[in-house]
Amino acid sequence: MINLLSACRLCPRACEVDRTNGVLGFCGADDHVYAARAALHMWEEPPLSGEKGSGTVFFSHCSLGCVYCQNRAVSRRKAAGKPLSRHALADTFLSLQKQGAHNINLVTGAHYVPQIIEALDLAKQLGLTIPIVYNSSGYECVETLRLLEPYVDIYLPDYKYYSSYYAARYSNAPDYREIAVNAITEMVRQSGAPQYGADGMLTRGTIVRHLMLPGLAGDTAQVLRDIALRFGQNVLVSLMQQYTPFDMQRFPELDRTITAEEYQEACSLFSQFGLAGFFQDGGAISESFIPAFDGTGLEGVF
Ligand code: SF4
Repeated sequence: MINLLSACRLCPRACEVDRTNGVLGFCGADDHVYAARAALHMWEEPPLSGEKGSGTVFFSHCSLGCVYCQNRAVSRRKAAGKPLSRHALADTFLSLQKQGAHNINLVTGAHYVPQIIEALDLAKQLGLTIPIVYNSSGYECVETLRLLEPYVDIYLPDYKYYSSYYAARYSNAPDYREIAVNAITEMVRQSGAPQYGADGMLTRGTIVRHLMLPGLAGDTAQVLRDIALRFGQNVLVSLMQQYTPFDMQRFPELDRTITAEEYQEACSLFSQFGLAGFFQDGGAISESFIPAFDGTGLEGVF
């Protein structure tokens, strides 16, 4: 499995670099796993966070690299993060389960899939039983997702852009839509339609997230329509208005938050297209969506 890192094509960037020799590709990750936080998170969608929280592991680095990244403290190439062995990562999963997590939520781990699988194998041997959530930018290779099929219960992909212009401008990925649609199709094939446990928590399924960006209401409308046409009731959709601008001097058009009117309009389309899922009310928006990436939950593990 680790051989997949020696000419890495884990994500659509297909860098083919030898990460086992310390050569870095677009994501900036070598063959060690780095993470910056592992904690119960209350701000995921209700059937993921529940009352006790989603056991969220925020991995460092990212293979997409959006200019407005809301988790930039960990996703940037020289991000702070703690190196973790497979055993330490397995222990981290087990610790979250012990704390009462409803699930293990792997945030942006595409570039670490082989190591994550090894850690999940170890953790399952040691008693990990809660559902595994794969939380993704949507910019994923189907081949890599197939490796995850025996492990992942719930997929949580973004569908960020319909337009290749915006995908190129903000994520350096003009092929984003085609890649994400293929990836989400594979995720839905694996997970099936949403299923819930007796406690109302999601146990299987795919939740597609769309983070609204300022001035892109037309693109949001096309994304929502496309989700409805392709996936209908086989997915839940999470329409997010929490966008927070950081250092947007080079992209002044993104230097504001979403207005209430923009969000209301998108919510109306959401209903019009017959989508099922989640809205956020204005009062829920706070810095809590962006937790501290300070090594919380990773103390003492190596
Ligand atoms: S995971 Fe990283 S090194 Fe591998 S193909 Fe993607 S960006 Fe390149």
